[in-house]
Amino acid sequence: MVIGVLALQGAVSEHVTLLQTLGATVRELREPQELAELDGLVLPGGESTTMRKLLDRVGMLTPLRKLVASGLPVFGTCAGMVLLAQPESLNALPATIQRNGFGRQRESFEAELAVTGFETLYHGVFIRAPYYSAVDPSVTVLATVNDDRIVAARYQHLLVTAFHPELTEDTRFHQLFLEMVTGK
Ligand code: GLN
Repeated sequence: MVIGVLALQGAVSEHVTLLQTLGATVRELREPQELAELDGLVLPGGESTTMRKLLDRVGMLTPLRKLVASGLPVFGTCAGMVLLAQPESLNALPATIQRNGFGRQRESFEAELAVTGFETLYHGVFIRAPYYSAVDPSVTVLATVNDDRIVAARYQHLLVTAFHPELTEDTRFHQLFLEMVTGK
């Protein structure tokens, strides 16, 4: 199983290590030709505007958009959650995104989250995190903060979290993603 991690910018190495720990072969992606023959793709946290500009500059934005539209399983964390929903980026997940949605006074925080399908609480690490303020009814909400701010969701072959699962030792989100990839 080959999982690509977009490596133009952001929190790349932690995803790579975690995926390798779970048995995946990982390829860091910096050029369009590296998008070939992947079983899944991770879009890491970082700065979504910078990432979109870099994707465009290296000629990866259009091929990536096509790949995501064709059904490749994608896990987007934080900035990746932004890129998947933004019309000008990957335009793949029908949701209204609030970038830096928790404001300056709560730039970074941690929260215990009740996640649909997990038996125990999940410790979420949020860094200038976005959230979805609305989603199409076909999107499955997995976790919210303050009742209605969507911070984890699943839609068809896409999984998103507003927080950084690669910064904790809890592997449940990466495991869930690998299960989506293998079609379990
Ligand atoms: N606020 C950033 C953005 O909108 C995301 C922050 C992150 O990925 N930690 O791109």
